[in-house]
Amino acid sequence: MRRKVIAGNWKMYKTQAEAQDFLHGFMPHLEKTPEEREVILCVPFTDLSIMSRNLHGSRVRLAAQNVHWATEGAYTGEVSAPMLVEMGVSYVVVGHSERRQYFGETDETVNKRLKAAQAAGVIPILCVGETKGQRDADQTETVILQQLDEGLVGVDLSRLVIAYEPVWAIGTGDTCETLEANRVIGLIRKQLKDGDVPIQYGGSVKPGNVDEIMAQPEIDGALVGGASLEPDSFARIVNYQ
Ligand code: PGA
Repeated sequence: MRRKVIAGNWKMYKTQAEAQDFLHGFMPHLEKTPEEREVILCVPFTDLSIMSRNLHGSRVRLAAQNVHWATEGAYTGEVSAPMLVEMGVSYVVVGHSERRQYFGETDETVNKRLKAAQAAGVIPILCVGETKGQRDADQTETVILQQLDEGLVGVDLSRLVIAYEPVWAIGTGDTCETLEANRVIGLIRKQLKDGDVPIQYGGSVKPGNVDEIMAQPEIDGALVGGASLEPDSFARIVNYQ
């Protein structure tokens, strides 16, 4: 049985005070969450310190949303993997489509970030997925296989999570059809030639569709944006049936 991994990606939302408010509402719900289910919160850099203190001794793992590939250096505005480790970070999102789209992230820089994270002992969550245009042009498989081929050179598959996030399903309310998400994730698994890597689905996961998504045999978890911002909503997702 592969492990089940549910991650909330807050993106650029929540001040420290708001992050603490979230935890007050969210943490009590975890009493109902099966032990073996992994729960992760991917928060802005500025929330890491307070989250780390508040989550200490809990089962929730802390994640950052990006990491630079150098250990240190003249890279104004960037944060390195050893810096994240010091903040109590266990996971980091790498190659999210918003970073690819707005911040020039490429498969090459994704690869460097993945290796830097692993070298510091942080588990990367690698995001892959096709745009609407690529799907309409029947390029879904080609695009994803290329993101994997180039992104994963020299990466240790035993310390990795992958998130399949069709770009057109992110923040749109337009979920990828569950069977189709399951099919693409099956293709990803085949390409990896490693049966144990947890592969999440991401893109408009909500309390109302999570049970159906998680019932799919290839889908090992969810990367949740909008619906992770509100405690009750994210708790319902974490406690999927
Ligand atoms: P969404 O975002 O759940 O708001 O669609 C998912 C993501 O970007 O990881």
